[in-house]
Amino acid sequence: MNCPVCACETSVVDSRPMPYGIRRRRKCDVCTNKFSTVEMRVGAIPSEEFARLAARFYQEAVALVTKNNEIENSVNKWVTK
Ligand SMILES: [Zn+2]
Repeated sequence: MNCPVCACETSVVDSRPMPYGIRRRRKCDVCTNKFSTVEMRVGAIPSEEFARLAARFYQEAVALVTKNNEIENSVNKWVTK
């Protein structure tokens, strides 16, 4: 896995099991950028479980965007006073 910032090689600094796969913490060998990856076998998640997880992810993403919009609106009101 190459660094998303500079495209150089990365090293795994931590690995943790998670449902259906492994989560790895990686660090760029050049720019020290850190990021996480998830490794799982294709087909590891049963399709009904995948649909359930996708629906939950969508709900959480919508809630996060809504919350960010509320914060942005609050900041805009405060800034424009
Ligand atoms: Zn890098």
